[in-house]
Amino acid sequence: MKIMKFGGTSVGKPERMHEVSRLITKDAESKIVVLSALSGTTNSLVAISDSLAKSDRVTAKQQIDTLETHYQNFISELVKTDAALAKAKAILTEHFEFLNIILKISFNEALNKDILAQGELLSTKLFSTFLEEQGIDHMYLPALDFMVIDEYDEPDLDTIKKKLSEILNANTDKKLFITQGYICRNAKGEVDNLKRGGSDYSASLIAAACNATVCEIWTDIDGMHNNDPRVVNKTVAIEQLSFDEAAELAYFGAKILHPTCIWPAQLAKVPVKLLNTMQPDAAGTTITSEAGSNGVKAVAAKDGITVINIKSSRMLLAYGFLRKVFEVFEKYRTSIDMITTSEVAVSVTIDNDTYLDEIIKELEPFGTVEAEKGQTIVSIVGNEISETKNLVQRLFTALADIPVRMVSYGGSKHNVSILIPGSYKTQTLQVINSGIFGL
Ligand code: ADP
Ligand code: ASP
Ligand code: MG
Repeated sequence: MKIMKFGGTSVGKPERMHEVSRLITKDAESKIVVLSALSGTTNSLVAISDSLAKSDRVTAKQQIDTLETHYQNFISELVKTDAALAKAKAILTEHFEFLNIILKISFNEALNKDILAQGELLSTKLFSTFLEEQGIDHMYLPALDFMVIDEYDEPDLDTIKKKLSEILNANTDKKLFITQGYICRNAKGEVDNLKRGGSDYSASLIAAACNATVCEIWTDIDGMHNNDPRVVNKTVAIEQLSFDEAAELAYFGAKILHPTCIWPAQLAKVPVKLLNTMQPDAAGTTITSEAGSNGVKAVAAKDGITVINIKSSRMLLAYGFLRKVFEVFEKYRTSIDMITTSEVAVSVTIDNDTYLDEIIKELEPFGTVEAEKGQTIVSIVGNEISETKNLVQRLFTALADIPVRMVSYGGSKHNVSILIPGSYKTQTLQVINSGIFGL
């Protein structure tokens, strides 16, 4: 079994969906095809939800109508026959009626999740209609029947495995399955999601659950690049990465992969390939247990970081101090990304500041607490980079004009991270591109 995941741009136009149908029928291996919503749709659904949360029904109605027009145009070029067009229209009616009904009822968090799920439901149902028109045998596989998260919003891989294998075992005559990325059910059985960009996570979870031969992530670029192509002009694709390297890059901001999508594939030792729908023959990036080569491979940046500094004269030689600090973060289920300590102070960074006020209040008895939002973590990732000659020297030479606030080095053999004010991100990625990658 092979997993093929197609992102928003890969299904965002009728001709792109046609191309996806060619890519998934190229070989005879059984496949589970995971689709994202058409590009832009999830953003539109977020905007609709935001309008409803503000009780601005007029704007929400306009946003729903604009989205519906987009889909009416889309289906008119997706399918040809009257029968397929009628089916596609019925799908739009079902989902847009749902959105229009929501307009009339009082908004809550569960409804928000239902709204966000519409994009992947639409893309998979429309794609399935197109495959049917083409006479391509397949089974529509609702992700809500097997993709589940627990009470802490973490995927429950054992249950996913059990539910998915039951479905696959009952349908051994099928060789092609079409399912949704991103959406799932939570511990209460409600519709939920794996957070933005979560279709990659769905693909990796499905790959682990069915011990797939490969998990292919098809997107709009030819693999993981050494730097963020949206920020820096000259970037190059990386042929091979280890799971650890890919996980660090994804977690520290390389948008091509969802931040935590690597662990399921790594756990099940399923190779992950990053491929380009627009250039299907390009080598892309292969992610396995092997790193391929040692040395620096890429840099990524993660925005929206808050730094918290706790200064305490009592910290000096006081064992148990860090434990007490960490317990506060544990209590509020807030994970720490970077940490640096001195004799009298400790700085930590968090990316989720939902409980920032509560955390600061509980830290205050330990010393003077200061927090600053709007920071960026820049991570340089590679294999055995601590052994790379002159790396630290070259890095700090390149960073001569950047006000570096924290440095984390040595925690992992794959990563050097620095914390900078967010306004310096572009400049930092550029100087690293020339100073470290020579580009
Ligand atoms: P999809 O919709 O297929 O999931 P995404 O937009 O989520 O695609 O991810 C692909 C995009 O990630 C690329 O178009 C690129 O702009 C961006 N990106 C950011 N950092 C990197 C990187 N290091 N390598 C490749 N792409 C990156
Ligand atoms: N459609 C979702 C999003 O835009 C999930 C994904 O594309 O991976 O975040
Ligand atoms: Mg994505």
